[in-house]
Amino acid sequence: MAELVLIIEDEKDIRENLAFSLKREGFEPIEAETGERGLELARLKKPSIILLDLMLPGIDGLEVCRQLKHASATALIPIIMLTAKGEEIDKIVGLELGADDYVVKPFSLREVILRIRAVLRRGKEEQYESVVNSGALTLDAVRHQAWAGDMELELTLSEFKLLQDLLLHAGQVRSREQLLDTVWGYSFEGYARSVDSHIKRLRAKLGPHGDLIETVRGIGYRVKANP
Ligand code: CA
Repeated sequence: MAELVLIIEDEKDIRENLAFSLKREGFEPIEAETGERGLELARLKKPSIILLDLMLPGIDGLEVCRQLKHASATALIPIIMLTAKGEEIDKIVGLELGADDYVVKPFSLREVILRIRAVLRRGKEEQYESVVNSGALTLDAVRHQAWAGDMELELTLSEFKLLQDLLLHAGQVRSREQLLDTVWGYSFEGYARSVDSHIKRLRAKLGPHGDLIETVRGIGYRVKANP
């Protein structure tokens, strides 16, 4: 069955070109001209991936991204942002918004297809990987066990989810908002500090391996990637 790709883009030429190449590559494109329509189609059709333009009339791409990531029905759908040069790329990429990747306009259609395939592949690996590991840290989601070196960890559910999220994204920075969102399913400004206190307890439980969780100033946390 062809994978559904939702394109949310107000520029007709770009949207139609994308749809055309996606079809040629065996995907099934669905098109939305506005953010509002895009949100509706995302909920209705549950696409495998969403291409989301940043500058849209009405609600813009950042807001669409935020709403998609906050609704449980659409939170897991990967998003690739389509941005113009100079737009706030730092904000988009994986930081508070949780987009999975981005391409800068003008992009080649080939590049977009490659990105889509890469993001979809990554998503599938994460889904089926019950055991994740980086350096001395290992976590088995199915058996609900985690280890630091040879030491089995006694973690609360929140700590477990926190560690799982960091390990699934080893080498990448995870913002407090993203961590809040994955672990507790919501993100409010005042709660960012509770991520800090959980990380503190988690580090203490990791003992000598506590420093594998790095603080990234002003953003959040990262587990070192496998050397
Ligand atoms: Ca636009």
